Amino acid sequence: MTYVVTDNCIRCKYMDCVEVCPVDCFYEGENMLVIHPDECIDCGVCEPECPAEAIKPDTEPGLEKWLEINAKYAAVWPNITVKREPPADAKEMDGVPNKYEQYFSPNPGQGD
Ligand code: SF4
Ligand code: SF4
Repeated sequence: MTYVVTDNCIRCKYMDCVEVCPVDCFYEGENMLVIHPDECIDCGVCEPECPAEAIKPDTEPGLEKWLEINAKYAAVWPNITVKREPPADAKEMDGVPNKYEQYFSPNPGQGD
């Protein structure tokens, strides 16, 4: 198994998660992060750190799409281990439904 980053990370991107991961397996897109499924050691430390509750274990039902997205973009986005400022409107975006359909960007973030 692995943990995956899901819809509510998009445009929230608080990045609290990257500071606690013992194996540095977060990768940064323009407006969300993903977890590399082959690098994650399933420690679960990041899950309660996410203010947006966007990190889930892939054993939860219905996360197949997100596992695919995490695997696909972890391979091409840059590694991120140091927290930066979240987007100015992160609070307003927290909880907005269907962010993937409306706001997902395949572009890479800046990384460390
Ligand atoms: S803490 Fe949560 S919302 Fe913030 S970047 Fe990590 S997964 Fe995304
Ligand atoms: S579960 Fe552990 S290893 Fe996997 S992304 Fe979270 S902190 Fe990193």
